[in-house]
Amino acid sequence: MTEPILPRIRPEIAALPPYRQGKQAGPDAFKLSSNENPFEPLPSVVEALQRTTPVNRYPDASAAALRARLGEKYGVSADAVHVASGSVAILHQLVLATSSVGDEVVFAWRSFEAYPSLPLVAGATAVQVPLTSGARHDLDAMADAVTDRTRVIIVCTPNNPTGPIITSAEFAAFVEKVPQDVLIVLDEAYAEFVTDPDAVDGLAERVFERHPNVVVLRTFSKAYGLAGLRVGYAIGDPRVLDAARTTAIPLSVTSAAERAAIASLDAEGELLERVAVIVERRDRLAEGLRELGWKVPDAQGNFVWLRTKERTDEAAAAFDAADLIVRPFSGDGIRISVGEEQSIDRVLAVARSLL
Ligand SMILES: *Cc1c(COP(=O)(O)O)cnc(C)c1O
Repeated sequence: MTEPILPRIRPEIAALPPYRQGKQAGPDAFKLSSNENPFEPLPSVVEALQRTTPVNRYPDASAAALRARLGEKYGVSADAVHVASGSVAILHQLVLATSSVGDEVVFAWRSFEAYPSLPLVAGATAVQVPLTSGARHDLDAMADAVTDRTRVIIVCTPNNPTGPIITSAEFAAFVEKVPQDVLIVLDEAYAEFVTDPDAVDGLAERVFERHPNVVVLRTFSKAYGLAGLRVGYAIGDPRVLDAARTTAIPLSVTSAAERAAIASLDAEGELLERVAVIVERRDRLAEGLRELGWKVPDAQGNFVWLRTKERTDEAAAAFDAADLIVRPFSGDGIRISVGEEQSIDRVLAVARSLL
């Protein structure tokens, strides 16, 4: 029999491996591969989910209640807030709204795994600027990489998967250098875990008010523990966010996600206590690894970065054998999320065995 003819796929899309979910954790394993929150949802959040509107109805298209609530929290108008099914969705919307064939999207590398597919899907070109030897963004090199085709620069702080932050002073100097018609997306998915007082905080500093080309991204997936519900937000100039609203797939934020996000803001104090527990574990884990002799970069998210280099596959197999699901990046390093308390000593034991 001859092969059936398949629909034509864009060659640059067909050339990529399709997305496959990472390994699922077995009953005794700790899943430390996706920077999720190890805590069960708060009872008040579960209760809000149970009160969700009937599923035969569409959700509110603009997530008005959640936008109003976030607007109050940050002292901006609801129009300066945009909500989507995860902040990754907002990244796609902003890149689609700004970039097309021949345009360039600049980001650091290694950084968040989702970034390379953003320009690709839009038909634009990725420009990857290597991290410094300290696994930090090289903002000077990123500013120098701007051409008249650059439409977006994505800045990730703390950087996933390596961990270091960008300081307020570094970001301010960077914004001054970048042309005003280039969008700067400040991806602060791990902002709640940051303890370095010098770190940029795009919302507290209200950078987007002085610089309408800066959009700040936050998410309910990590610190707030709602990764499975898919809800994130952007704060920025309403005219820029309107472009994201235009390219968004309508009605993707479910009523359940919106209510759970509001209930989480209601319970913010309790959630931030849990964040403090994760931060304490993170610092203990990073310190423990350094005491063993690993050169762990400053860890300001809910994860640590092990520079396993050419031994990455071997190291990943050792974690796997110890029922620790981690995120290896072959030839480079391993990202380990800060999870349950009992996982910390197990991670340290494997890390010791690798030396
Ligand atoms: C996890 C993460 C996000 C957010 O993901 P969503 O679940 O889509 O909100 C965004 N940026 C970075 C760098 C992340 O690590």
